[in-house]
Formats: sequence, C-alpha cells, structure tokens
Amino acid sequence: MRTDKDCIFCKIVAGEIPCYKIFEDELTLAFMDINPANHGHALAIPKEHWEDVYAVPDALLAATAETVKRVAGAVRAVLEPYGVNLVQANGPGAAQSVLHFHVHILPRTKGDDLRLNWGLRPGDTAEIEAISKKIKAALQ
Ligand code: 5GP
Ligand code: ZN
Repeated sequence: MRTDKDCIFCKIVAGEIPCYKIFEDELTLAFMDINPANHGHALAIPKEHWEDVYAVPDALLAATAETVKRVAGAVRAVLEPYGVNLVQANGPGAAQSVLHFHVHILPRTKGDDLRLNWGLRPGDTAEIEAISKKIKAALQ
C-alpha cells in the first residue's frame, strides 16, 4: 500500500497515532477532526497516501466518496444539523494543511457563519470522543 512515513494521516491509518475512528472499510477510513470547525466535524480518507484530488486514483476517490456519503448520513441522523458541507482542499491556496487526500464532513448550525478557511483550533477531546461514539454507532 502506498504510504508516507511523515504523513500524519498515514500514521493514523497505521495505528501509530490515535484517532476517534467512526468507520473503516478495506480502502477507506473516517475519523473525527481533532480541530473541529463545528461539533461533529469528521474526515474521510483513502487509506493509501495520495496527496490531492489530482493524484488520487479514481477507484480510491470513488471509495472515499461512498464513505463520505455514509458518514454524512450518520452525522445528519445523529446531530440533525442545519446542513452539512463537504469540503475538500487542494494546495496551500485552498488551505490544504495535510497532504493526504481527505474530505471534511462538516455539520452546520444555524447562524454559525463558518468561513471556507476556518482556521485550526484544538477541540475538547471529551466532546469529540462523545460525538464520535454516537456517529460510530449510527454507522453500524
Ligand atoms: P485541511 O486543512 O488539509 O483541509 O484539513 C486537514 C485537517 O486535518 C484539519 O482540519 C486538521 O484539524 C486535521 N488534522 C490534522 N492533524 C490531525 C490529527 O492528528 N488528528 C486528526 N483527527 N485530525 C487532524
Ligand atoms: Zn498519508
């Protein structure tokens, strides 16, 4: 499998650093963002290391899209958000900070006024863990 020893998401895939995992299949992984822009902010990735949308093979893009759809459905069921944005950044100009293809599943609350480049602020890990359990249960 294609991997990058310096990539934080590859380390998560390998189990070398922890995450609040909510879903996994053969090709993809979904887990909570550690700097949530909103409550319930999740990420979906292919397990293989591909930098961005230009590089990721179509089959892995498709597999990730399926996982994104599942997770978005679970997030909607659990949080009943005002809406859900799917966000995917390519390159520094788009504020891509982790160079391993990923899609943000971003629940919205009414009036949250969230901007596209929301900036990274560490979340409350107890809160992230609690919502991860609910979303994970909805994905069983
Ligand atoms: P990007 O800015 O590349 O679109 O998104 C990368 C995301 O990865 C950010 O929202 C950031 O909070 C998240 N992230 C970075 N490092 C970690 C980590 O170690 N664990 C988790 N769960 N998320 C991370
Ligand atoms: Zn990687």
